Amino acid sequence: MAQKITFIGLGNMGGPMAQNVQRAGFDLTVFDLVPSAVKTLTEMGAKTAPSIYESIKIADIIITMLPADKHMRSVYMNPDGIIAHAPKNALLIDSSTISATLAREVAEAAHKNGLRFIDAPVSGGTAAAAAATLTFIVGGQVEHMEQAKPVLEKMGKAVLHAGPSGAGQIAKACNNMLLAIHMIGSCEALNLGTRHGLDPKVLSEIMMKSSGRNWSLEVYNPMPGVMDKVPASRGYSGGFGTDLMIKDLGLAMDAAAGVSAATPLGALARQLYQMHSQLGHGKTDFSGIFETIAKKSA
Ligand code: NAD
Repeated sequence: MAQKITFIGLGNMGGPMAQNVQRAGFDLTVFDLVPSAVKTLTEMGAKTAPSIYESIKIADIIITMLPADKHMRSVYMNPDGIIAHAPKNALLIDSSTISATLAREVAEAAHKNGLRFIDAPVSGGTAAAAAATLTFIVGGQVEHMEQAKPVLEKMGKAVLHAGPSGAGQIAKACNNMLLAIHMIGSCEALNLGTRHGLDPKVLSEIMMKSSGRNWSLEVYNPMPGVMDKVPASRGYSGGFGTDLMIKDLGLAMDAAAGVSAATPLGALARQLYQMHSQLGHGKTDFSGIFETIAKKSA
């Protein structure tokens, strides 16, 4: 019999992820506060329920994809939430990007109630969610990750174990802090070179074949006109919003403070993205920081 899966949080990421679970033939129930998000899934054949409690009553696996700590805390820890009402031994998979501290707290509460829990944040944006090519970065017991793999592999191309509970969130924060920094570095280098008259395509090629090579240059060039099908080629629409990057950098800074790790470039990157957001670019792709860096003084 197909495993019973409940998916909670059907937004930009959770919607397409749940659609892939439905297409894979699992017995799927979905829940979200937004009726239109639920409708897309029920039209594909998924079931729904009027509350979180009702939606998880008979689930074998519960997957959540929620915006931030406060939503995740309420969905899991409220008296009518997952921890109190999930069937014994259910496997809980949280793919939201949240703090490692909360992931550990929820894992402990889950274990006390005889439930299995893994934190499994994702790398890859909405396009990867739709194409089922996400990378899941997992914290928790390896055995529990292996039990989650059959469904995670329907939504992603890689499932990587980072360490115990919370480690998935820490690894995700490290990755996104590094991404934030090398994106800004790439913008600075492209702006400097082109102010000296270099062709940005030629300069990008040179840096990609030299020691400045990085993901931002290789697959996500921030300068308009260098690459097709990236946010820079469509006015920075779609992609990964600047405000989401600021949220992730906040999580990285909190994680750093907890262990007194020096992250001066992470802190500076956060301020630069905040400036970019205050200039009105919070909702557009983070690579648009190129425009703020390349702005010419009047
Ligand atoms: P979103 O805001 O589009 O979707 C979140 C969904 O959760 C919404 O549909 C909302 O109605 C629902 N929700 C909120 N509170 C709820 C509750 N109490 N009960 C039921 N549903 C509730 O966010 P998103 O872009 O899908 O991102 C989800 C998570 O994935 C975030 O933590 C984000 O940082 C992370 N992430 C996003 C991207 C991206 O490119 N968007 C990439 C990687 C990771």
